[in-house]
Amino acid sequence: MTSCFVCAKHRDPDLLPVGADDLVVVTHVSPDSPGREGGPVYLGHLVVEPRRHAPELADLTDLEAAAVGTWAARASRALRDAGAEHVYAAVIGHHVNHLHQRLIPRYPGTPREYWWPPRMDEWPRARLGGHEEVSRVVHDLRARLERGGR
Ligand SMILES: [Zn+2]
Repeated sequence: MTSCFVCAKHRDPDLLPVGADDLVVVTHVSPDSPGREGGPVYLGHLVVEPRRHAPELADLTDLEAAAVGTWAARASRALRDAGAEHVYAAVIGHHVNHLHQRLIPRYPGTPREYWWPPRMDEWPRARLGGHEEVSRVVHDLRARLERGGR
C-alpha cells in the first residue's frame, strides 16, 4: 500500500505520534495533510488509525477494534485534560482509504452554530495553528498520556 497517505505517514521516521502501540497510531492532523495545503489546522484535531491498512471499522480484527477504542478514550481524556469541554468522534473517510477515526475537541466558549457538523475551525476565535503550534499540542498531549491518563 505504498500509495496510502496514512501507511506512508506511519512509516515516516520523523513522525511524532500523540500515542501509539503495536496496533494503533494516534496523530495530530498535520498542515501537510491532503487538502490542507500547509495552512493552519484546528488544534487538538486528532486521528486514531490502525497500523494495518484497513479501510473501515468493519475491516478491523477484534483486537484492533479494541485498541482503536482504547486509544480513542485515552486521547479524548488527554484532550479534556488540556481544556476541551467535549470531544466529537467520527469516521468519515471521503478522501483517504485507511481508517482514521477523528477526534475533534470543542473548547469552552465555542458558539453553538459552530458545534456540529464541526465548523469550529471557522469560528473567528478558533484555536488554529501551523507546524509549531501543532508540535506544542502534540508534546502536551503526549505528556498527559504518559502521566497515565488511563
Ligand atoms: Zn494505509
